[in-house]
Amino acid sequence: MKTSTMKRSYLSETAKKLKPSGIRKFFDLASQMEGVISLGVGEPDFVTPWHVCEASLDSLERGYTGYTSNAGLLELRTEIVKYLQGKFNLTYDAEDEVIVTVGASQAIDVALRAILDSGDEVLVVEPCFVAYSASVSLAGGVPVAVPTSAESEFKLLPEQLEQKITEKTKAIILCFPNNPTGTTMSEQELDNVADIVKKHDLLVLTDEIYAELSYNEEHVSIARFNGMKERTIYISGFSKAFAMTGWRLGYAAGPAEIIQAMLKIHQYTIMCAPTMAQYGALEALKTGMDDVNEMVKSYRQRRNFLVKSFQEIGLDCHLPGGAFYVFPSIKKTGLTSEQFAERLLHEEKVAVVPGNVFGEGGEGHIRCSYATSLSELQEAMNRIGRFTRKYAV
Ligand code: PMP
Repeated sequence: MKTSTMKRSYLSETAKKLKPSGIRKFFDLASQMEGVISLGVGEPDFVTPWHVCEASLDSLERGYTGYTSNAGLLELRTEIVKYLQGKFNLTYDAEDEVIVTVGASQAIDVALRAILDSGDEVLVVEPCFVAYSASVSLAGGVPVAVPTSAESEFKLLPEQLEQKITEKTKAIILCFPNNPTGTTMSEQELDNVADIVKKHDLLVLTDEIYAELSYNEEHVSIARFNGMKERTIYISGFSKAFAMTGWRLGYAAGPAEIIQAMLKIHQYTIMCAPTMAQYGALEALKTGMDDVNEMVKSYRQRRNFLVKSFQEIGLDCHLPGGAFYVFPSIKKTGLTSEQFAERLLHEEKVAVVPGNVFGEGGEGHIRCSYATSLSELQEAMNRIGRFTRKYAV
């Protein structure tokens, strides 16, 4: 028998404390079972439009196989600036206010590392994308949950925010349209939040990766309000709206001082985002909006179907304004969200994500992604209906 020569654990306290994502557990389980319909994953069922793939292949053929500048191709940054201006009325300078990253994920990580000192508090509006609190902790900060609730359709109310602000609060992370609730905020509602942010002199990190997937009204960015651009780091990417999750391409835009600090960290740790992916993204921004509009049309139809079906089977479900998730309440079943998800998977072979993994306010709900075909959604809803009838809903 071999004996180890290691006399101690080499893991950092930070790594030891980090909890594995609650989403993965379900996918590992579901992937070992046959015939499962997954409403679990947060990625489009569409493949990247071929002309985008071709642009990337073409860049390889032309021999563009080296690094780009650390901040990303200037041509791509210029196109991002044009897009943000045209679409959301946001004005940035491509030279020093934009950085191209490895997905929105890396933009979030590097933004937090650029702004946080040890012990700084960051408000995290929950339920939310599972990476925020972990990224705050990894950057040495302290995540502080600001729970939202079904009563207000998971919108962030100014008083909920103000209650959690202390003298250590440095920033707040916002994500509308939201993962997992699909909630959007109107212009007036965001303006009210912006007032609190300015009053307490906070920074905002706004993850608007689902901005294109807005079904009820035009998307509004919090960066657009008076006095907000200088205190907002705008984060987005190509994964969702452009169906490019595997390309790993995102970006951040914001005040030059912060973007340049992010760039310093990025150049030492990443160098630059993948070159061939940057050429694909350039094509997506230049000629891909028709593809996005087609996908949005399909998502809207699926959203309407799912919400109606949940209401018909007797589970409360608000009509989300964006993203590709619905977040129905399962409280009437008397099950916890974990029990519901586990039993539904074993008894009916439908994978959903229990709401508790998304933080405070998520318990009593499940996240169902509609980034899957309408026929699969129909079958999933038959199964969920049969399942909930057992619990006398
Ligand atoms: N932000 C949100 C809100 C997300 O839901 C996701 C993916 N699930 C990401 C960021 C990560 O995006 P990317 O693929 O660009 O890293």
